[in-house]
Amino acid sequence: MAHNRPQHILELSSEQQRRFLDSFDHVYSDIDGVVYSMETNVPNGSQAYKALESAGKQITFVTNNSVRTVNGTVKRLGQANLQVQPHQIWHPAQTLVYYLQSIKFDGLIYTMASPQFKTVLRNAGYQLIDGPNHFIEDTYEDLLLHIFDKQPVKAVVIDLDFNMTATKLLRAQFYLRQPDCLFLIGATDRLLPIGKGIKLIGPGNFASILVEASGKEATVMGKPGRVLGDMLNRKHNVSDPSRVLMIGDMLAQDVHFGQLCGFQTLLVLSGGCTLDQLHAETCPQHLPNYYADSVADFIQLFANVATKAHF
Ligand SMILES: [Mg+2]
Repeated sequence: MAHNRPQHILELSSEQQRRFLDSFDHVYSDIDGVVYSMETNVPNGSQAYKALESAGKQITFVTNNSVRTVNGTVKRLGQANLQVQPHQIWHPAQTLVYYLQSIKFDGLIYTMASPQFKTVLRNAGYQLIDGPNHFIEDTYEDLLLHIFDKQPVKAVVIDLDFNMTATKLLRAQFYLRQPDCLFLIGATDRLLPIGKGIKLIGPGNFASILVEASGKEATVMGKPGRVLGDMLNRKHNVSDPSRVLMIGDMLAQDVHFGQLCGFQTLLVLSGGCTLDQLHAETCPQHLPNYYADSVADFIQLFANVATKAHF
């Protein structure tokens, strides 16, 4: 898709605003940085989703965050005044189960992930191991004892793990030496924005270490993975991806994901990306079609189009 510089949705002409609102049936929306950031709700965000819903748009929340359970996310969205059904929420652990089932995977999985992520896999019947959770003495003997084991691991999974350690990565590296061991990545976020100007090292950076060390192609379950896009489109019977609008606050995850899948993309500046960062972006795959200060701009957009319709 040829890309011009992204346009602010409220700076489009009235005709373009109307055409934009008519141009999609499905909304795939990120959550963190779009609906809320940590404990702070994006002002008027819920009204924007309600306006989209009233206009007949089907809304699905697509997050890279598997640390919060689906029910936990439904509850948190409720606190942001949004009543959402569990089936409207997708995170990488669910995509992973879908993927493993689709390839009829049967084997032991080594996981570096949160307890919530592992629970989703266990509930789907998969057998997991993790660790080591052992403090290594400063000797190679002790290190090797804890990273080198002979368990028949057939897949290594990495997502956000608050207890990530070098020894876990080293153990994963050993498993990945086996040619038939799959390498599966959940969230790809290299940095996790957790507040104004504060970004933590994200799972994507740890995954990159393993990509480099193993020389293996990884399959990505979260955004911007194609597996996720295919799964969502199948689930929602999307035959024309250009009639999907992907809304998100991250260029490398949300916008890139949307572009890979042929969706329209809208960046909101309420989360992990500033206007200066958007202007400085040079990678064509990371440039959205549109941007907005926040999802709340949809309220004004619908009002503009409604007013215009009276003339
Ligand atoms: Mg986000």
